[in-house]
Amino acid sequence: MADVQFGPPRERVSVGLKNGKDFLFECSKCGKPLYQIKVVNPDADVEWRTRVKCCYCGDHSFIREFRGLYAHSGYGIPDPNDPQEAIPVTEILEFKTETDSQGKPVLTVIVGAKK
Ligand SMILES: [Zn+2]
Repeated sequence: MADVQFGPPRERVSVGLKNGKDFLFECSKCGKPLYQIKVVNPDADVEWRTRVKCCYCGDHSFIREFRGLYAHSGYGIPDPNDPQEAIPVTEILEFKTETDSQGKPVLTVIVGAKK
């Protein structure tokens, strides 16, 4: 099974979570996919403003706002030899609380390119 993490804090869980909202963060400049999220408990009273720092060009994804508990991982592509597995393309390295251009706090996820 591909690893998915609950975040933050970082805890590894397996995929196969109940249905939630999925989204993929892509770089706003170079368009590369960087980080993915699956909301697993949208009723939880937690709100997020999140963006991802691009490991390719140094820019960021657009900021997304959502609520609830979520599972997350770096971006992965399906393994052609095993549909249950994903080949990681990026990995989660770090989280930082920063301030966006409007002075609002934003959680920035730092990802790195695999291999
Ligand atoms: Zn980029």
